[in-house]
Amino acid sequence: MSSVVSVFVGLGSNLDNPVRQIRLALSNLAQIRSSSLDKCSSLFKGPAMGGEKNQADYINAVAMMTTTLPPLDLLGALQEKETLQGRIHGKRWGPRIIDLDLLIYGTQTIHEKNLSVPHIGVAERAFVLLPLCELNPQLVVPNLGKVSELVKLVDCRQLVRLESGIIGEEF
Ligand code: AMP
Repeated sequence: MSSVVSVFVGLGSNLDNPVRQIRLALSNLAQIRSSSLDKCSSLFKGPAMGGEKNQADYINAVAMMTTTLPPLDLLGALQEKETLQGRIHGKRWGPRIIDLDLLIYGTQTIHEKNLSVPHIGVAERAFVLLPLCELNPQLVVPNLGKVSELVKLVDCRQLVRLESGIIGEEF
């Protein structure tokens, strides 16, 4: 039998009512086979990062899940959910209806062609670290350190917390 692994998934949207898109994505995450959605952070609003600044603000959150799926199967399931929700893969930093990133998969570090875990953005993204810290400040990001320490190194001033966490049973 496969072992149960604790994973963290980052959610982001800045198109077509992003708060609604995040809620929809959460209910889709709850449907992933061999997995359960245990908890979600608050939703945070903040400006777009990266090369394309001229776009709507993003809504971001982090979901805490458990799964027995191997990492690449879980990535495939996340990509299926993105497609189901209408994600069209366009410009790297362009607006998106939903983005689902596999941030952390247990204590593993993974360097595959299509999958880097921890996700490459974890250490420098306030919109990832702040929700992760809310879920579990003691969490250690493999190779990077404790979330409560990492969050001190990023600028969180532009992030606005929108609402409190939603527990799994509510999906
Ligand atoms: P994005 O534009 O953020 O949706 O990037 C999607 C691409 O990143 C896909 O080709 C994935 O295979 C790749 N990728 C690499 N590592 C990860 C990860 N940890 N989570 C999600 N996508 C990843």
